[in-house]
Amino acid sequence: MHIAQPDLAVESVAASVSEFLKAPLALIDGKSVFAQSGETYAVYNPATGDVLAHVPACNAVDVDLAVRAAQAAFEGPWSKLLPVQRQSILLKLADLIEANGEELAQLETLNQGKSIMLSRLIEVQSSAEYFRYMAGWATKIEGSTLDVSIAIPPGMQYQAFTRKEAVGVVAAITPWNFPLTMAAWKIAPALAAGCTVVLKPAEETPLTSIRLAQLCLEAGIPEGVVNVVTGMGEAVGAPLVAHPGVAKITFTGSTETGKLIGIQAMRDMKRVTLELGGKAPMVMFDDMDLELLGAAAGIGAFFNTGQTCCAGTRIYVQKGIYEKVLAVVTGITRSLAIGSGLDPRNQINPVVSARHQAHVKACIARGIEQGATPLIGAQAPEKGYYVSPELFTGVRQDMALMQDEIFGPVVTITPFSDPDEAIRLANDTKFGLSASLWTNDLNKVMRYVPKLQAGTVWVNSHNIPDQNMPFGGMKQSGIGREHGSGALDNYLETKAVCVAYR
Ligand code: NAD
Repeated sequence: MHIAQPDLAVESVAASVSEFLKAPLALIDGKSVFAQSGETYAVYNPATGDVLAHVPACNAVDVDLAVRAAQAAFEGPWSKLLPVQRQSILLKLADLIEANGEELAQLETLNQGKSIMLSRLIEVQSSAEYFRYMAGWATKIEGSTLDVSIAIPPGMQYQAFTRKEAVGVVAAITPWNFPLTMAAWKIAPALAAGCTVVLKPAEETPLTSIRLAQLCLEAGIPEGVVNVVTGMGEAVGAPLVAHPGVAKITFTGSTETGKLIGIQAMRDMKRVTLELGGKAPMVMFDDMDLELLGAAAGIGAFFNTGQTCCAGTRIYVQKGIYEKVLAVVTGITRSLAIGSGLDPRNQINPVVSARHQAHVKACIARGIEQGATPLIGAQAPEKGYYVSPELFTGVRQDMALMQDEIFGPVVTITPFSDPDEAIRLANDTKFGLSASLWTNDLNKVMRYVPKLQAGTVWVNSHNIPDQNMPFGGMKQSGIGREHGSGALDNYLETKAVCVAYR
């Protein structure tokens, strides 16, 4: 284990990080390359607002080169490897992610803004574990044998079976909130299945994706199997989705962009998985264990400064404990330390960009305008993209605060008397990604879990994904599931084979 202790602050950035920041390039066919146009754009350090690096501003020309490289690798060296060889390469990659863990963690915190503790434990450690988990599935791809009822011509017999075959080149498009983790969630199952990948990271946070692709080469993954094209959504993501050489699209991001991608994918009949936005409810019953409120607020609501698709931003509390819960959650929210992610004592870090900071602030202002009551009203540091955490009461179900994904440290807290009404309110948004119930009553768990419209329901916890649990959304939170035993199916075609014999 090469990862520094989670509680260590970064006093000075590692030399390898400074070196990497001088020229983070796209990676196409195993080569670090500038965009063909030569154009670059700046990425920023959200803690200061300073330019961190310049990266290639790729466009459709670069996308075409990357897809062609991925096609050649799919038909060539990658298809020649045995499943067990793919497995051991992915295991080696996991080791390399750990070996370079502190460098990756610092890069992530500098680029995304998040706590170095989250970068070390989630982005690095859980990504390494994700590659290990998916490596195991590479050797367990299986079809089935099928009895059939065909009896013509007389004298012939039939036996059918299915084969699972890698779908081809995968376009992986990721968001900025967990850049390395999201890249791992796409690349690991795709490679385990035998596919090749063109990864388009979010324009704000491309750095750890580039570094990951370099580590793929170091692990022995052949050139062209993993390619990274950096740049804007319309300039890079759109031509990637539309490229005829792409067989499968896996996208994590906003519902708006997901809809555009879904429409384009259907035009070309490409396979598509969409992991989209959320507006998760946390429903707290009178009999809940109040000692769990710290975890509910810290991990459920404000984790990653609220920039989590599963963030429990709508808290519904049964009337008997409402005043107590309100007091505790308000106290926790007031006590959260705000500051740079390089110091792990800071629990609220900058949001990813100036644009996103303006968006979150506008959501807070709109909530106040619409009549909701802010309970905290604290000032955030002026330099950098900080937003101080806010807690609202008096929020009607039809207000934007309740309906729109804010993706920042903004939470509503609302009392309820009738549990059935609480579940109805919990379901009353266009999203259906995740939800949680907080109760010590097994009867309530069994009664209400089936009624919640959410791809994941946690009981007495929130925001705890696991590589072995299917993950994805109902309603406008997406189509398909990642993780678990079914994850590879996203990257495999099923071919039925029927053999006649005498
Ligand atoms: P976004 O939709 O703006 O961007 C996501 C990615 O899509 C980026 O790489 C972007 O460049 C690209 N893109 C933008 N326009 C495109 C186009 N026309 N064609 C192809 N690609 C395009 O989302 P974001 O702001 O980066 O991320 C935040 C969103 O991601 C939130 O809505 C959040 O809920 C969601 N998210 C969902 C999950 C999940 O698993 N369900 C996980 C994390 C984040």
